[in-house]
Amino acid sequence: MKLTSVRDVADIMNRHGLKFNKGYGQNFLINEAVPKRIAAECGADPDSGILEIGPGIGTLTRELCARYRKVVAVEIDSSLIPALKETTADLDNLVIINDDIMKTDLDRLISDEFAGMNVTVCANLPYYITTPIIMKLLEEYGKFAFITVMVQKEVAQRLCSKPSDDNYGAITAQINLYASVKRLFSVPSGCFFPRPKVDSAVIRIEPYKVPRFTKEQTNGASKLIKASFSQRRKTLVNSLSGIFADMTKTELGDIVSETLGMGADVRGEKLEAGDFVKLYEALKDRM
Ligand code: SAM
Repeated sequence: MKLTSVRDVADIMNRHGLKFNKGYGQNFLINEAVPKRIAAECGADPDSGILEIGPGIGTLTRELCARYRKVVAVEIDSSLIPALKETTADLDNLVIINDDIMKTDLDRLISDEFAGMNVTVCANLPYYITTPIIMKLLEEYGKFAFITVMVQKEVAQRLCSKPSDDNYGAITAQINLYASVKRLFSVPSGCFFPRPKVDSAVIRIEPYKVPRFTKEQTNGASKLIKASFSQRRKTLVNSLSGIFADMTKTELGDIVSETLGMGADVRGEKLEAGDFVKLYEALKDRM
């Protein structure tokens, strides 16, 4: 049985009475090289624990188990579990958990399953929920060595962009409060079955080894980021005036200029994560 063969995938699905669930973003990898490359380049060392989100029928899972000490795979779709157990029956370093990753208690899972290990996340993420999953991973557990994930190509461009780039947005700045992001490689839509409408790319998110900002700064800056990008064409001062209702726009503009050394008419998309933290420090007593 070859998990990257369309015939074998269809056969497994038929034997288990399964249909691809679009609502769960089920597009399985059918290119032999891609899962090997994701597993090899995820950044982990061989003694690491790997948390895989959405193993599907186990194509990437098998490559991860071949390279790393232990893999815990969290799959939401209970109907897939018997097929996944069949395709991974020979692996003794895999734990399968049937759960929604958005509801998983990460601290508990990591202390129960990965005691004493460095943990990296490696996944071909379901498209419908990519950024909520990434934000949950960063917000709830600060100690992942890497988070290496396949996402839609456009999402990869956004997450890897820099201030002033066309694709730079609130999510980019928010992720940069916790981590740096590197684009690894592209994956065309033909590498999946069923074939999605869009191409994908693999990115590697590397949480800062020593957090750059305190929890309070991160939460405060995050509020400013959300407000600053809520209306893209507005200047930073106009976007922020809603949450600083007791300040005039001139006062706010003066603080922006003094704190960032930028004109009072600057737009949010020019600011990097650290600028939002500086602004939070200057404005926190008025929030
Ligand atoms: N890893 C497989 C591969 O690369 O062929 C499947 C990847 S497929 C794009 C996404 C997988 O995530 C599906 O198996 C889907 O059922 C699962 N999934 C979707 N939402 C999930 C969630 N909230 N928690 C855990 N798994 C989820």
